[in-house]
Amino acid sequence: MGAMLERLGKATDSSLYCSLTAFLHNAMVKKRLLMSEDAIFRLCSDKEDFVFSKLIRKLFFNSLIDFFCRGRCAWYLSFCMRDNVIMYSFQRSEEDETKCLLQLSKEVISEGDGMDVLEQLDHNEEELILAEYESDDEKKVISGLEDDDDDLEEEHVTKIYYCSRTHSQLSQFVREVQKSPFGKDTRLVSLGSRQNLCVNEEVRRLGALQLINDRCMEMQKNKHEKKSDEKMEGKRRRASHAICPFYSYEQMQFLCDEILVEVKDIEQLVALGRETKACPYYGSRYAIPAAQLVVLPYQMLLHEPTRSAAGIKLKDQVVIIDEAHNLIDTITCIHSAEVSGSQLCCAHSQLLQYMERYRKRLKAKNLMYIKQILYLLKQFVAMLGGNVNQNPGYQVVSQTGTVLKSINDFLFQSQIDNINLFKVMQMLSSLFGFVERYGGPATTVKTNKENQKLAGFQNFLLTLKQGSDKEAGTPWTPPVEAENDQLRTASPLMQIEGFLSALTNANQDGRVIVNRQGTVGQSSLKFLLLNPAVYFAKVVEECRAVIIAGGTMQPVADFREQLLSCAGVDPARVVEFSCGHVIPPENILPIILCSGPSNQQLEFTYQTRDLPQMMDETGRILCNLCNVVPGGMVCFFPSYEYEKQVYAHWEKTGLLTRLATKKKIFQEPKKANQVDQVLMEYAKCIKRCSQAGGQMTGALLLSVVGGKMSEGINFSDDLGRCVIMVGMPYPNIKSPELQEKMTWLDKTMPRAAGQAPSRVLIENLCMKAVNQSIGRAIRHQKDFASILLLDHRYARPAVFNKLPQWIRERTQVKPAFGSAFAELRKFHRGKADAL
Ligand code: SF4
Repeated sequence: MGAMLERLGKATDSSLYCSLTAFLHNAMVKKRLLMSEDAIFRLCSDKEDFVFSKLIRKLFFNSLIDFFCRGRCAWYLSFCMRDNVIMYSFQRSEEDETKCLLQLSKEVISEGDGMDVLEQLDHNEEELILAEYESDDEKKVISGLEDDDDDLEEEHVTKIYYCSRTHSQLSQFVREVQKSPFGKDTRLVSLGSRQNLCVNEEVRRLGALQLINDRCMEMQKNKHEKKSDEKMEGKRRRASHAICPFYSYEQMQFLCDEILVEVKDIEQLVALGRETKACPYYGSRYAIPAAQLVVLPYQMLLHEPTRSAAGIKLKDQVVIIDEAHNLIDTITCIHSAEVSGSQLCCAHSQLLQYMERYRKRLKAKNLMYIKQILYLLKQFVAMLGGNVNQNPGYQVVSQTGTVLKSINDFLFQSQIDNINLFKVMQMLSSLFGFVERYGGPATTVKTNKENQKLAGFQNFLLTLKQGSDKEAGTPWTPPVEAENDQLRTASPLMQIEGFLSALTNANQDGRVIVNRQGTVGQSSLKFLLLNPAVYFAKVVEECRAVIIAGGTMQPVADFREQLLSCAGVDPARVVEFSCGHVIPPENILPIILCSGPSNQQLEFTYQTRDLPQMMDETGRILCNLCNVVPGGMVCFFPSYEYEKQVYAHWEKTGLLTRLATKKKIFQEPKKANQVDQVLMEYAKCIKRCSQAGGQMTGALLLSVVGGKMSEGINFSDDLGRCVIMVGMPYPNIKSPELQEKMTWLDKTMPRAAGQAPSRVLIENLCMKAVNQSIGRAIRHQKDFASILLLDHRYARPAVFNKLPQWIRERTQVKPAFGSAFAELRKFHRGKADAL
């Protein structure tokens, strides 16, 4: 079952939470009865089984939890019973993540001659030799790790997965749970990335998520290697490597228990991890099976490999996706992948030198796959119009532009259609541990002795380059600085693996964008996902119910058609529910303004919006508003370029000076790190004006739809007493990506109410952006604001109906400025008198 929920205000987090708690309680009672019945039945049939059967132990444990779980004492009581269960869970999770690494790095220890050769190698270099590659089939035969997996699995209790877009939104939700009367009775676990949860300072200092992930995995691999080395008892000793002191079974078990005792947000989890010297990243994962409420970011829920690596099981569970207005874009983004020409050349250079150095020691099969990867990289660079043997930064692309290709066409034209990409991907993953891991950490943690040692591979590459520069046809090695930057942001081989993975996961539903710009280094290959429903279908299929919720979900047609319908959900099973707003009707005044003070019709199309009279008319409207609106006014423009153009025009005509007599003017910065400072100054100015009185009544913020201030920022109370939307922010339909999506929609979707699906998409994208922006102003029950939509096209029924219901119901269409201005003055005077 799918549900789409639109609700507003902070109180809605609580209402969402209270209803889901009721669900959890009912599920728990029902399950308790069933389990008790089952346990009694088994007790009667075979008493001995009760003592030894793992199943009964779990049932007994869960029954205890259900009966007594009302506080800390019950949990400590339950700890005595659960060691066995947690042990299984721990072993399984640990193995899941390291299994692959163990498989691929397992060295074939040979006796006799082979051993002698290995012993002659320096320890660091010895580790660079790749283990024999094993295909999936071979792995199954050799491995014993898959055995008993079922036995080790801990049963997941009925739970709700609550996911949202940002870390702060998740924390806000957790705080609501803590405040609620159910907070004490709920077993909640917050999941996050290593970037948020890692407590190893040395690893945290690496900063970039990719580097943190790499280093953590590397440390775990070291831990497993150390264990296996110890077992070898002198057959062959390896240099010991750093392992993470926080990755300890006992400590993490303790942390897991503490997590379930009391609701904690991410910050509290990290503090507890530091205190108990246990890794919160893994500790929180071990708490998933017993948790009733799992709070996690989008990425962990919507991306299947991440989901399974974290031990998340959606079968028969409830999923709530909050702040879901951009869900389609989010899924598309998560599953899209891009590699630049620089990354392709860098990976080719590293791999080629690795192969040349160790050619004689590599197994034949490994050599074959490495050659295939080199060929593939060469062909990809050729598709960008370049050559892997030259510096991509200096290779100028002759034919610039963007071309979209189907997956098949791309594979065929790049002449790699005969390569098994699945096997190549596996090989690439195994190479991360050999080629990549010696690049990342060493570039950033220079004080650490061991990491300096790890720089061996990089140094080795440099010595190769220095030694062979004189030779003709030397492969290009990126300059150290550039390479470091590259590694800071992403490991090239990982990016390439991500791109290949995207290619292999979609055929009809994806396109490759070949983007040739300036130089080969600046050019890129990008996988574009056209049908996000393919990935969403897996979530919908498994779950008991999916709730897609958000403050401003209108227009919802996209969700119905592009996500739910394409994911195969029966329309009869989709429930749509929209709550009214918490504010009284008299606290909001939305107006669609069709013309300005000098009767200029307001229509901001691409053709008309640049006309001086349109920019002048907009300025006049703002000047008038500044006279009647107290505090802060936020004016949204359709793009940065247009905002810049209008600002420059007003500066030239002197209108800016007139505006500045009433309101101090602020502009939205383009850089994210400047947003806070601008907002702070804006808020300070409004406060100062309200306290000091005088001619200056507040501030005017010139902002951009879809920019840094149109989502997630609250202009509550005096920060936003009037929101103005200049024109309609339609997306750029000349963008090749959007054009391809439109063509795909027209081919695959039925027409809705006589409109082509592509047309509906454009309108929906525009109105989603408008709704997000205008929703910034009214944030709580006592808040009030006016909303001014400057464009007569907002009055068209197809557009008008896409406004949120609570705004639509109160919207007035004003053909002339005079009557609109009178309404606005009355509204704000009335509010000022009431204060
Ligand atoms: S195990 Fe945990 S604490 Fe250690 S490096 Fe990995 S994420 Fe950080």
